[in-house]
Amino acid sequence: MIKLMTPGPTQVRENVRLARSFETSSPDFDLEFYDYYKEVCQLIGTLLHTKNPVYIMGGEGILGLEAACASLTEPGDKVLVIDNGVYGKGFGDFVTMYGGIPTYYTADYKTALDVERLANFLEKNHNFKYATLVHCDTPSGVLNDISKICPLLHQYNILTVVDSVSAMFGEPVYVDDSNIDIICGGSQKVISAPPGLTLLAVSEAALSIMQNRRTPIASYYANILNFRDYYKNKWFPYTMPISDIYGLKAALDNIADDSDIYKRHSQIGTAVRYAVELSGLQLNLENGYSNTVTVIRVPDIINCQDILSTLKESYHILLAGSFDSLKDKVIRIGHMGENCNVEDVALTLEALSETLTSLGYPLKTNLKLFF
Ligand SMILES: *Cc1c(COP(=O)(O)O)cnc(C)c1O
Repeated sequence: MIKLMTPGPTQVRENVRLARSFETSSPDFDLEFYDYYKEVCQLIGTLLHTKNPVYIMGGEGILGLEAACASLTEPGDKVLVIDNGVYGKGFGDFVTMYGGIPTYYTADYKTALDVERLANFLEKNHNFKYATLVHCDTPSGVLNDISKICPLLHQYNILTVVDSVSAMFGEPVYVDDSNIDIICGGSQKVISAPPGLTLLAVSEAALSIMQNRRTPIASYYANILNFRDYYKNKWFPYTMPISDIYGLKAALDNIADDSDIYKRHSQIGTAVRYAVELSGLQLNLENGYSNTVTVIRVPDIINCQDILSTLKESYHILLAGSFDSLKDKVIRIGHMGENCNVEDVALTLEALSETLTSLGYPLKTNLKLFF
């Protein structure tokens, strides 16, 4: 068995796997399933501190991002794309695809977004229907302060679309207090269920803008509005992946029962970063560290793939490289959700220390120092 220590998909606990094997009914015709689905959505809303309706869609995390853009964008709409990472920039593609006109607000990829600078920009430029931003941009691990950025955008009546796929439940999220109109999550990151589901909390303001469009939403599968009256009409736009949702419920119950979850993410994230710095390795970021993932620069004299394959073959631990401009330059440890426990993180750090030594890069201190 290979131990997953990647920033998603993460390890899946046995009770989640078992829930996915429960006997299934028809999610279309079994009226009780509508209550079950609603209950799971309400649990998500409670955990995200929102009264907004929540929807679970059958499709990987990316579907949520596309659904938000597809459902809001009409041809010619101006959209602010906040870009301080790979996913941040990527939102612009969805905006363009549905006929919107993106304005990229591009900032340093090594630091959390500077809210003051954004405020200055918005003073002069605020004619946008909505803005997109990423909570934790996973390829670099940068964490943006959505609790400050979204209320700022809200002041200018700009709707906010937040990708929190790799942060929610590892970093606290207060949807209503932060004025987040659409927040997107995925089953396979902190939630620690297998990939396959996207979840969205959508404000009434966003729903009413979708409802009052001049042009129809240019997608069926990615149309959020199709979910709006599912409960009243006892109708889903497509057959819901019932076993995935059973698994999701078990994973969310694990989170709801885990009163230390945010504290543990913070303590483990902090300890890993501290150990990396003392060891002589370098963190990729200058500030804005997400407690869900640590991104470490690969020393010039060794090869990224060699580190990853040694860890996999000799220690049966899977870490991730990265992509885009960070390809082959960094390795990533995903200490989120089920991965976020002292035993697995200690094992990973020990194995990484030994691997680097065997590849000719001995560390000043063993990474396991604080574990
Ligand atoms: C994982 C992730 C997604 C979902 O994307 P996949 O590449 O399909 O897994 C979306 N946004 C962020 C920030 C993610 O980390």
